[in-house]
Amino acid sequence: MKKIILSASLLMVLFSCQNESNSLTDDQSTPTASARKCESNAVLERQMQEDPELANRMNQIEEFTQHFIEHNDGRLVNGKVEIPVVVNVLYKTAAENISLAQIQSQIDVLNKDFNALNTDYNNVPALFSGVKANVGISFVLDQVIRKSTTKTTWGTADAMKKTNKGGIAPTSPTTKLNLWVCTIGGGILGYAQFPGGSSATDGVVIDSRYLGTTGTATAPFNKGRTATHEVGHWMNLRHIWGDTTCGSDLVADTPTHNTANYGIPAYPHYSTCAGTPVEMTMNYMDYTDDAGMYMFTLGQKARMAAVFATGGARNSFAQP
Ligand SMILES: [Zn+2]
Repeated sequence: MKKIILSASLLMVLFSCQNESNSLTDDQSTPTASARKCESNAVLERQMQEDPELANRMNQIEEFTQHFIEHNDGRLVNGKVEIPVVVNVLYKTAAENISLAQIQSQIDVLNKDFNALNTDYNNVPALFSGVKANVGISFVLDQVIRKSTTKTTWGTADAMKKTNKGGIAPTSPTTKLNLWVCTIGGGILGYAQFPGGSSATDGVVIDSRYLGTTGTATAPFNKGRTATHEVGHWMNLRHIWGDTTCGSDLVADTPTHNTANYGIPAYPHYSTCAGTPVEMTMNYMDYTDDAGMYMFTLGQKARMAAVFATGGARNSFAQP
């Protein structure tokens, strides 16, 4: 039996590499982003430094995941997973207090992207048509909580999730996906917490200008794919390049990528990693523009299914 056991030090290597030209020094400015920037791995690195047990918990989740993949073929054990979504809106300006229509447009995108109902699903190249996946997880808007604040930007230290920092504490985080909508700053579109983290900070954060498809949603990130990408992390998916040069995303059916891809790369885009495969730039876990990403793979689906299976880190979300 193949076992992948990640040591704490290896996890640190996996998640400590940032390939960004933007720095956090411009946290106080909030110009709209031109390149995707997700801070999930930097946040994980911080959480690992704050919580020495987190790496152990994630190692156990990874062991469980690899065992599940070998024995369950990626099927959702209970057949159906429907995720209630609590949207926490933090606003200083009227524009940041986004409309219910904009929020619902994001829920609609999640339901399309996770059920192969997105209109661009048919654009997946023939080379990858054998591995493209209907994940089969749905989402329903549970409630919207709004709070006026004095903060201009919120950063990535989870302040938006803490009442004593002016934020909104998560609602029922073991049975509901909490999604915070606020201005993050630093050119960051969003970040997620991986399975294994504290329930007090569990969920995803999306900058209000990159949420949904209407209202303040701003091109080229106005097709709701930032949330699709971040919810992928929340369901235990890694960046497709493994966050290091020619790294591993712990998925067998994705090609090895050199690094993140931006914009909308021309197809085929070849990797220079071993075997020089065609990179799957249209995968949701790359860094392309919203219009450039439109598929998960069967291997990614299996990782996500493991999270909700009996014994999985988010099994409390599964419907009986
Ligand atoms: Zn990411």
